[in-house]
Amino acid sequence: MIKIRTLFAVLLAVMIYPGIVAYAQENAHEHEQDHETEYHESHVHGTSELLLAIEGHQMEIHFQSPAVNLLGFEHKPQSPTQQQRFSSAVKTLAQADSLFSLPAEAECELEKADVQAPFEDVHDDHGHEKQAEQEHADFSAHYHYHCKHTSKLTGLNVNMFEHFPLIELIRVQALSDKGQQSFELHSDHRQIEM
Ligand SMILES: [Zn+2]
Repeated sequence: MIKIRTLFAVLLAVMIYPGIVAYAQENAHEHEQDHETEYHESHVHGTSELLLAIEGHQMEIHFQSPAVNLLGFEHKPQSPTQQQRFSSAVKTLAQADSLFSLPAEAECELEKADVQAPFEDVHDDHGHEKQAEQEHADFSAHYHYHCKHTSKLTGLNVNMFEHFPLIELIRVQALSDKGQQSFELHSDHRQIEM
């Protein structure tokens, strides 16, 4: 029996592993460029990615997006307005209830939400702030739900377009006992049907 973690790892690998490999190789050779992440093909401005895996009573959702889709810029916040937009994006990403509408009869409860934001302060050996020169940056978020009745989980609505109007397209990969399914969501078509 394949465990959800395995399925999920496979999905993640397909999406981000090439990037991680490139990153690791780069680091091995050039320590100076620790923060120049090599971005993979799935970093397309306007497009965000969602992975969904359901097994047993567990549902995992992984969201990954170019920062520009959520902020309107893709660098460290430089003005109070940008800082405010950044904080608000992090806050919104943590509010799974407002991002995903699940069928009430599935009785799903959010057990965990993790948001990974880019542009953390980087310091050199002397404690000075180092300018991380990145061309691109991603946000990612991970949500873990426990559902009493996953069989009633026949669909879910993704409401991210309302919160982040710069997202034009969300590519979805879903894995469940119905197999692997792909969806493309737009602001006028935001329903995943499983
Ligand atoms: Zn970018």
